[in-house]
Amino acid sequence: MTARDELNQFRSEVANFIERELPDSLRNVSTIRSAFEEDGGADRTEPSLKEARARWRNALRARGWLAPAWPVKYGGGGLSPAHQFVLIDEFINHDAPRFFDMGLGMIGPTIISHGKEEQKQRMLPPILSGEHEWCELFSEPAAGSDLAGLQCRAAKDGDEYVVNGQKIWTTLANRANWGLLMARTNPEAPRHLGISMLRVNMRAPGVTVRRIQNLTDHEFNEVFFEDVRVPANDVIGEEGRGFYYLMSLLDTERSAVSQVASIERTLESLLQLAQSPELPPLSRAARMELASRAIEVEVLRGLSQGVAELQFAGKPPAHQASVLKLYHTELAQRIAATGMKMIETHGLLFRGDRHAPLDGMIAQQYLYASTLTLQVGTSEIQRNIIATRGLGLPRG
Ligand SMILES: Cc1cc2nc3c(=O)[nH]c(=O)nc-3n(C[C@H](O)[C@H](O)[C@H](O)COP(=O)(O)OP(=O)(O)OC[C@H]3O[C@@H](n4cnc5c(N)ncnc54)[C@H](O)[C@@H]3O)c2cc1C
Repeated sequence: MTARDELNQFRSEVANFIERELPDSLRNVSTIRSAFEEDGGADRTEPSLKEARARWRNALRARGWLAPAWPVKYGGGGLSPAHQFVLIDEFINHDAPRFFDMGLGMIGPTIISHGKEEQKQRMLPPILSGEHEWCELFSEPAAGSDLAGLQCRAAKDGDEYVVNGQKIWTTLANRANWGLLMARTNPEAPRHLGISMLRVNMRAPGVTVRRIQNLTDHEFNEVFFEDVRVPANDVIGEEGRGFYYLMSLLDTERSAVSQVASIERTLESLLQLAQSPELPPLSRAARMELASRAIEVEVLRGLSQGVAELQFAGKPPAHQASVLKLYHTELAQRIAATGMKMIETHGLLFRGDRHAPLDGMIAQQYLYASTLTLQVGTSEIQRNIIATRGLGLPRG
């Protein structure tokens, strides 16, 4: 069988699986929302959908497709990048919700790459079951781009560490029950070498989470640690190697294969909107702009595939992940701006407004897209990485 036949066969396998297993109440829940939200936009709190989502999640888990890139022996799908692209394509074609949280997307792969075998056995299953939701506790008020300067301290005390310090901009800390914490375990060591990665219980005594309001409804928090005790066997991998593990986590986060699928779906929604009677016919300039975005989405797919191939070959992407992150986030901003131009003053209407095109998602995306070039490392930092690691230029 040729590789193409094999992928086509896999495509039918995925389509049949979705037809068979996707609960009716999750079919076409909101085509519009799924264009913008990874998981189909189902409201996390609506009880009727919660049960159906749990059933769908279990079906995916049993098939290994909840974490398609994880090795089979840890409950993943062990899929090649080409198979992952097909899987995501079919999910999108069927408007089937995907589950992509920090545990599945970033933290699981980090534990798989750097954790001890005992930690993999203990920490991975509850990520797959959804029992453990994680957040990433990296940034501090005085350490964002320069994370090696972080001050949060984890001091060894017998077979425990005692954590004191503050984190900020922690996405979803308000929901998470576990956090991946970067803390200084050896203040005497050179900056990068004194940092470790720890798993911390977000419900432990001494942890305080405070929400930060913002324009985009993003679930941001400040997190304070006061004499929080963490068992020594919850230091991921080896003490003092945390900074190195974090760099590989960020490369994984910057190169998520699913980003291209979301952007393709957004473009598709704009193309449908452009032909709908809701809007006046597109101007010549708007047509040109949409055509440019379509070309850029093709470029993004090519970049994504390149990075995914590297990962599959066991070669961690470095500057390539930064090229992808930079291109993806700046493209997301351009697409949102194109959408805003198309809908003109309707861009002032938000979710729930009767006349808001695509249920206000363009306006929401336009605001949210501004954050993309900051999170997971700013565009300036990505350009620095490309210049030094990619092009071999000296540090500025
Ligand atoms: C939506 C969103 C979600 C986030 N979620 C999380 C999360 O879950 N967990 C977490 O830990 N953090 C999270 N962050 C924080 C994010 O990682 C930081 O905002 C980011 O790393 C930048 O750090 P900073 O805000 O401290 O800015 P700074 O590092 O202070 O940077 C300020 C400005 O200076 C520029 N700059 C800094 N250093 C250089 C340099 N060497 N060369 C050129 N320019 C430079 C930056 O590009 C930026 O424009 C999130 C941020 C956003 C926006």
